Amino acid sequence: MQKLSTAVAAGVAALSLLASPVQAASAAADRRLPALKQEAMTNVRGRAKLAQEITDQLFSFGELGYQEVETSKYLTDLLEKNGFTVERGVAGLPTGWTARWGSGGPVIAFGSDIDGIPKASQTPGVAYRKPMIEGAPGHGEGHNSGQAVNVVAALALKDIMTREKLPGTLVLWPGVAEELLAGKAYMVRDGVFKGVDAVLFTHVGDNLQTAWGRPNGTGLVSVEYTFAGESAHAGNAPWRGRSALDAVELMDIGWNMRREHLRPEQRSHYVITDGGDQPNVVPSTATVWYYYREIDFDHIRENFEIGNRIAEAAAMMTDTKLTRRVLGSAAPRHFSRPIAEAMQANIDRVGLPQWTADEQTFAKAVQKLVGAREEGLATKLRGLRPPADPPVSGGSDDIGDVSWTVPTVVLNYPSNIPGLPGHNWSNAIAMATPVAHKGVVAGAQVMAATTLDLLLNPALLASAKTYFDTVQTKDEKYVPVLTAADRPKLEQNADVMEKYRPEMRKLYYDPSRYPTYLDQLGIKFPTLTPP
Ligand SMILES: [Zn+2]
Repeated sequence: MQKLSTAVAAGVAALSLLASPVQAASAAADRRLPALKQEAMTNVRGRAKLAQEITDQLFSFGELGYQEVETSKYLTDLLEKNGFTVERGVAGLPTGWTARWGSGGPVIAFGSDIDGIPKASQTPGVAYRKPMIEGAPGHGEGHNSGQAVNVVAALALKDIMTREKLPGTLVLWPGVAEELLAGKAYMVRDGVFKGVDAVLFTHVGDNLQTAWGRPNGTGLVSVEYTFAGESAHAGNAPWRGRSALDAVELMDIGWNMRREHLRPEQRSHYVITDGGDQPNVVPSTATVWYYYREIDFDHIRENFEIGNRIAEAAAMMTDTKLTRRVLGSAAPRHFSRPIAEAMQANIDRVGLPQWTADEQTFAKAVQKLVGAREEGLATKLRGLRPPADPPVSGGSDDIGDVSWTVPTVVLNYPSNIPGLPGHNWSNAIAMATPVAHKGVVAGAQVMAATTLDLLLNPALLASAKTYFDTVQTKDEKYVPVLTAADRPKLEQNADVMEKYRPEMRKLYYDPSRYPTYLDQLGIKFPTLTPP
């Protein structure tokens, strides 16, 4: 606690010392800045229709991690048509890409995740459970909206940068397979962010907000353990078999015993993805998939190593062979103070959307449905979030790896309803409705304005660099989990998408025929009760 604030204070002192010559040399912010920000916000508002179309289109694709094929094709085509230079398949990710526009520095990169959640298919705009397709994936996290924020902001900026001849490059990129924590660390490892000066990342939320320093939450390692035994007739000759499933069960028992003796900050969970075929065949293979989460790099590594030892012990107990594969990882996050402060000033200027009575009624009905407090949509800004002191445990996001590579901030924009459980069908309900659309426009306004700060105020980028070098990385350094040999497991989710895509395709949004996706689905917004 003490350590963090001392470090911050020291860093701020260093920052003001170092930043002043830069400011003196380059003068303060460009005089055009306030007027251009105003223009960018108006320009974004003028693209509200595009914001709605992108949001609805990606919602209808509802693709899982690594299978974001339609999503990436749609976005890269759209960006190419608008003059961006697209590179596809970056970092060995078939659905990964970068789209660049502009020339020279600074280079500002806009990212947002694009993958969905298993079994989260849900009809939008209705305040009850109604899958569009039973069992199919869907946007139960709201990752259909962030690229809409980024694209609209980038196009608004492009107009202004062209006319004002502003030097600078915009790079748009997707968070591939974020729900598997298995995209961004590969992009970092493979140098996608080389030469980038700042990353502005957008993620759906229920308010318009940003943060600096260490937020609550964890980093993690995602690792798959596969045991190989020997099959045998489980009735006639079980002594001839060696059960791989026994090894999985023993590993899980071992880990669950060890849990008591780990720090309370840890979070860990597993699923058995292969538990054998049928009871009368001794399982010759079995696979268990673990996430080990902890607050800092050292403890993540420590728990990963404990898990590995328990897996080896389980293999010894069962005379089976163990193989291990790291599938993904996420570093604990740390965000740039100077950029977050600049962003917050723009958040204060943009403010929250004006919600209609219908939108509030809808939000309260959904909150009632999931047993949350019936508070409706956010009407008050939360303000700039300082570092969590000390951070407490929780979820992870592989933007962490990016945040230790380039000065980074995350903007949450109010496209969803407060109080929902997350990773759940109910989180999809609002994501193709006016609530999501308005939230996207507000987010894009903040993105455009903050990018103008970075383009026209060299002192801001200089401070961000100073903060990164002298505060963020002073006592803690990025420890990547991935080695040069690790490969993304690209076949993940392929079977699920193969099963559901033919039915989902019939429901893809067609903006040439319908103003909105709700229109296409024949839903009157809001629909509060089942017919
Ligand atoms: Zn997310």
